[in-house]
Amino acid sequence: MQALWRRIRGLGRAAEPAPQAPDGDRPAVASVFAGSVQVRHVDAGSCNGCEVEIGSAFGPVYDLERYGARLVASPRHADVLLVTGPVSRNMAEPLRRTYEAMPAPKAVVAVGDCARNCGVFAGAYGVAGAVGDVIPVDVEIAGCAPRPEAIVAGMRKLTGR
Ligand code: SF4
Repeated sequence: MQALWRRIRGLGRAAEPAPQAPDGDRPAVASVFAGSVQVRHVDAGSCNGCEVEIGSAFGPVYDLERYGARLVASPRHADVLLVTGPVSRNMAEPLRRTYEAMPAPKAVVAVGDCARNCGVFAGAYGVAGAVGDVIPVDVEIAGCAPRPEAIVAGMRKLTGR
């Protein structure tokens, strides 16, 4: 056993080098988050394709948590609101209330083309508008559905890691 401990101590820490921090356009609010954000997700009317990719982004392969983003169950604990789908008429008010329940400073990420501009649902009867028509948006992630890499890249703009 002693020999094993000596080997472990002698080996040191074995990990991949940290990836380079994101550069380029980062929203102003990102500077106050200091590398860590708690994230509340709201499906405002999506087809669930974006949810599948968000699940992958937070899963063991893409592991978004290693960049400082963690999902939480309540908007009162959240710094960031991750919104998918066009905003349906039924979800416009709940989305507004969820945003208002979050403490400041806070940021909103619109995930997927539907969240950005209503996507394939533009003009549909039940659609109230894009996410930006209901609450202010800080980061947009394009794609239908966006790949997990794009979701990770968008969230890293907020964590800065
Ligand atoms: S962007 Fe595509 S995958 Fe995401 S909610 Fe809209 S239709 Fe579904």
